[in-house]
Amino acid sequence: MTATNATPQRLYLLNLGMTDVPLPNGSKLAMVSAAYLVRMSDGSHILIDSGMPADYTPPDGHWIEKLDASNVIEQLAKLNLKPDNVEAVICTHFDIDHIGYNDHFPQAEFIVQRRHYEIASTGLERYERGRAHWGDPALRYRLVDGDTELFPGLSLIETSGHAPGHQSVLLTLPNAGKVLLAIDAVMFQRLFTTERKAGGGDDNEQELKASTQKLLDLVEREHVALIVFGHDGVQWKTLRQAPEFYD
Ligand SMILES: [Zn+2]
Repeated sequence: MTATNATPQRLYLLNLGMTDVPLPNGSKLAMVSAAYLVRMSDGSHILIDSGMPADYTPPDGHWIEKLDASNVIEQLAKLNLKPDNVEAVICTHFDIDHIGYNDHFPQAEFIVQRRHYEIASTGLERYERGRAHWGDPALRYRLVDGDTELFPGLSLIETSGHAPGHQSVLLTLPNAGKVLLAIDAVMFQRLFTTERKAGGGDDNEQELKASTQKLLDLVEREHVALIVFGHDGVQWKTLRQAPEFYD
């Protein structure tokens, strides 16, 4: 268990693979698959998402197919950590590229928005794909409702739209200050505007725009120093990636 008064000390960005997706106009889109690890002041660790499962066969031509992938277990090993060292896993949503290794952390507490968990549990095809990994009956889920401060300096921000009950994460680090992990609420920097449209993978455009506005307001109000976009390979090339960290 992480002590209730523990605070975030380090943020590791775990690069689980990058690929250049060819676009219809001939250009390429650099995409990253990511997870995040937070080291807390009491020495405990909180994982955010767990990446693509090893057993997933993506549809032909899907961006995931060409991913030059590393998994979250390998990424933790590079930090001399084992799954046992992870006390909690924040699940942003149950899309296949975010839950693939949940079942490797049976000792952890999983934290997800109630709305997302309940909708995913109804058997929607989108979430059935990865259900063997997130729906393992051995896993303990804690369901939260809306914006929630988990620890001082670590908050969940409800950002529906890409998926109902999707959540982003706001961290306060001792030196780097406030860091927003937008996850799939804003996958690419260029989408961080309310002028945006829903893309193919998004559930609800109205909620997506409202959540984007919510994050734009939060960035201004909280003086966020760094925003990490969920799948932005171009941005990721400019960021400190594990084993480097933000502190
Ligand atoms: Zn995603």
